[in-house]
Amino acid sequence: MTEGILTTAYIAASILFILALGGLSHQETARRGNLYGIIGMAIALVATIGGAQVTSYATLGVCMAVGAVVGIFVASRVQMTQMPELVAILHSFVGLAAVLVGFASYLDPAAHAPETALQGVEKTIHEVEIYLGVLIGAVTFTGSVIAFGKLSARISSKPLALPARHWLNLGLGLVCLGLGFGFVGAEGHSGLLPLILMTLIAFAFGVHMVMAIGGADMPVVISMLNSYSGWAAAATGFMLSNDLLIVTGALVGSSGAILSYIMCRAMNRKFLAVIAGGFGTAGGTAAAGDDQGEVIAISAEETGELLKDAQRVIIVPGYGMAVAQAQHVINDITKKLRDVGVEVRFAIHPVAGRMPGHMNVLLAEAKVPYDIVMEMDEINEDFPETDAVLVIGANDIVNPSAQTDPNSPIAGMPVLEVWKAKTVVVMKRSMATGYAGVQNPLFFEDNTRMLFGDAKASVDAILVNT
Ligand code: NDP
Repeated sequence: MTEGILTTAYIAASILFILALGGLSHQETARRGNLYGIIGMAIALVATIGGAQVTSYATLGVCMAVGAVVGIFVASRVQMTQMPELVAILHSFVGLAAVLVGFASYLDPAAHAPETALQGVEKTIHEVEIYLGVLIGAVTFTGSVIAFGKLSARISSKPLALPARHWLNLGLGLVCLGLGFGFVGAEGHSGLLPLILMTLIAFAFGVHMVMAIGGADMPVVISMLNSYSGWAAAATGFMLSNDLLIVTGALVGSSGAILSYIMCRAMNRKFLAVIAGGFGTAGGTAAAGDDQGEVIAISAEETGELLKDAQRVIIVPGYGMAVAQAQHVINDITKKLRDVGVEVRFAIHPVAGRMPGHMNVLLAEAKVPYDIVMEMDEINEDFPETDAVLVIGANDIVNPSAQTDPNSPIAGMPVLEVWKAKTVVVMKRSMATGYAGVQNPLFFEDNTRMLFGDAKASVDAILVNT
């Protein structure tokens, strides 16, 4: 493939990636956005394989075949509820790739980039690229592995609060900076030792950074690791002198950074404070298992009657809806209620579920009309005029203690103010807490009714009675 065709293909792929991101910003255009992304990636792969830098087709073919088989196997088996952890582990691969490319690029520059004979400033710049790429990649790798563990409940979601952790972080950062001076400009391969030491420190930093973050703040970490994986890819692009990888990495890095900002706003957190960790360390006055009084139970039949008699209904989906896969039946209930003139809308909290946009994806899959799916800011003021609220497997996002208990791990997080409605029906299986591990005073309010059981079984029964 000539240099001209390669450049054209790379520009086309870059444009398609930008269109993909644009498409993904609205539910109506998300499918189209995905398609642009797939086509862009296909063009990028073919162009890169056909490029002059690829010579060993046999090795590449074997690696791609193994990767494709593993990818197809994992993707076809993964449950919707496991998507967040899958995304986290995929981020870790990007980080690990940046580390490996960095080491390879340092040990055998001839095999990776034409700048083998780099001298002076250019050599220094290349070494800085390697150092930064390995640093970001290593933090992304271990941070994402820990995020995977926390999201899949293999590791407790409770924050690890080491004494003097901020000083520890600062110390690690300064040591990495010092090692950087030892690495850049070192003769021969004598920079290898500082590079290895920095990598080990960055691995430890990634573990510590994510371990220190409390359950409720995980959304910010996920979007932040998404951003880091982009910057790691961009750094790899610099190391390999691959323009498309630089552009793609920068797109992922900056869109992840914007998402982190949005998530921080949704959680009412300061970005730096979340990264520094320690949020969620307070036990709160409503810790798990606290007895806060009696709850009032309701049956599916009574819930069906309540919904039919209502004029305005708001449905609040949460993680439990994803677990129960109740979204399709919820759509059937919505249709039935709308057919008899009940106004039904959905209220989506920005951190509902276990990944950004989780609920929107499920509702779109169930073909719930987009125009009745509202963001928190659009609908939060409407609860006082609402007759019935149906909370399906949501907990932290409707917890009033975020507003009333300054010691709560979720203190300050904006929540859906469902308790202001006339009646609230909460569907869940038990009195267990949500992801943040705090009890929810909503369940004990006079206007709250608890519909215990698996959400799918409950909505099936409600459907029969509406
Ligand atoms: P929560 O985790 O707070 O609550 C989910 C509730 O669903 C649980 O209390 C559980 O209660 C119930 N549940 C689980 N399975 C079922 C089932 N089969 N049927 C009925 N109920 C069920 O979820 P929310 O969506 O309210 O809040 C999201 C939380 O996750 C927030 O703390 C957020 O910070 C965090 N998070 C969000 C991420 C994101 O990007 N969106 C990423 C990582 C974390 P029970 O066991 O009694 O049934």
